[in-house]
Amino acid sequence: MHRHAPEVVVLPSCREEVVRIIDLARRHRIPFVPRGAGTGLSGGALAKFGGILISLTRMRSIREVDFENRQAVVQPGVINLDLTKAASPSGYYFAPDPSSQMVSSIGGNVAENAGGPHCLKVGTTTNHVVCLEVVLPTGETVELGSRAADCPGYDLAGVFTGSEGTLGVATLAVLKLSRLPQSVKTMLAAFPSLKEACDAVSNVISRGIIPAALEMMDRRMIRAVEAATKAGLPLDAGAVLIVELDGFAASLPAQADQVAGICARHGCREFRTAGNEIERQVLWKGRKEAFGTLGRMTRDLYLHDAVVPRNRLSDVVTSIYGIADRGGVPLAILAHAGDGNLHPILLFDRSKAGEEERILGLVREMLRICIDAGGTLSGEHGIGSEKNEYMDMLFTASDLEAMQRLRAAFNPDELCNPGKILPFRFCGYR
Ligand SMILES: Cc1cc2nc3c(=O)[nH]c(=O)nc-3n(C[C@H](O)[C@H](O)[C@H](O)COP(=O)(O)OP(=O)(O)OC[C@H]3O[C@@H](n4cnc5c(N)ncnc54)[C@H](O)[C@@H]3O)c2cc1C
Repeated sequence: MHRHAPEVVVLPSCREEVVRIIDLARRHRIPFVPRGAGTGLSGGALAKFGGILISLTRMRSIREVDFENRQAVVQPGVINLDLTKAASPSGYYFAPDPSSQMVSSIGGNVAENAGGPHCLKVGTTTNHVVCLEVVLPTGETVELGSRAADCPGYDLAGVFTGSEGTLGVATLAVLKLSRLPQSVKTMLAAFPSLKEACDAVSNVISRGIIPAALEMMDRRMIRAVEAATKAGLPLDAGAVLIVELDGFAASLPAQADQVAGICARHGCREFRTAGNEIERQVLWKGRKEAFGTLGRMTRDLYLHDAVVPRNRLSDVVTSIYGIADRGGVPLAILAHAGDGNLHPILLFDRSKAGEEERILGLVREMLRICIDAGGTLSGEHGIGSEKNEYMDMLFTASDLEAMQRLRAAFNPDELCNPGKILPFRFCGYR
């Protein structure tokens, strides 16, 4: 929805150049914005008030892969999937897997605390960051966290992760590597309606099974994905779940039977298991490219991101459909259902007068429903300049003041990515 051009784009190739750019920006009081691959979905990498865009795409070397300590040292412009490609021949991988992982950068993943289908079991990016080298908006270079376990002092690497480029520029990241599982089983379960699929999700988890991934697509989404990928999705289903189990080979058949039994009790009409790696990849290709496949059906999309407690998924989804129906707007739903992370996607045409404002009004109503159900404003895409004016719906004035004081400790002149996360009244720009 947003478009803002910077006055200048710089492409540093090392930390020293980042320091010099920030020194210049400070001297002339010019705002600057760090940018990775630009795939962010909440406007975080847009130069809202012009100034300097610091593109980190040239800083893309994997400096070290240390299997003994299960750590990798990478520059921020490294593409997420490239790290897994480098580690996997030795049996390791980088676990956070946003659907954009073939293009999004580690710097952007850290700044957004990116999630992904497989973060249900292993947690989002913050659980995989060991320490960070950061150039602060004051020009100093600091190391946040430490390569040894249990670093004393404040958890500043934790504070930086998810700070959406407002606390400085990450110039190096030390990340945890995970061992590839011995065995994986990927299943597709088709349900007559989204409600039954949502209920099956809560039931699987309450039985003590934590799948590696538990993803959901509704009917419109299934149709778009099937038209693009021919993955063999059932076109008459109201919703499908993709359930992936991983672990020791001997433990998976019994767990898969349990999942099949739970799905059957919730009205599952078709349950199948990918027979080989190619069938598994076809299912995942469909899921990971799902958002893009809607491009065949509409001129514009508004992809929206919220989280609700898992056991409220089915009522929230019903209310969200109600809002879209009343507004006469076609809607598709994708969800990292195991986490209660919903992506309602509104299909519209921005060339129609007043349509953008109308869509934003509907999205606001949907967010209200999610918050009232005990949920939150974003599961993984961040707040950026998209939802900062909604922060008052979730936080008290004192909560927001505390966040502003923390931000000012790192970014005292508000030159680093102004106008993001907190409502505009905090940033002092017009
Ligand atoms: C098709 C598609 C699917 C997606 N799927 C997912 C998903 O499954 N899960 C998910 O979490 N997200 C998803 N996203 C959103 C996006 O890909 C992630 O937020 C990703 O982490 C952004 O990385 P990037 O390199 O593109 O960052 P950018 O968009 O360039 O920047 C994002 C933010 O990070 C900051 N930033 C970037 N680099 C640095 C740095 N070195 N230091 C400090 N701040 C920095 C920027 O200022 C900005 O605020 C998807 C996006 C698309 C287009």
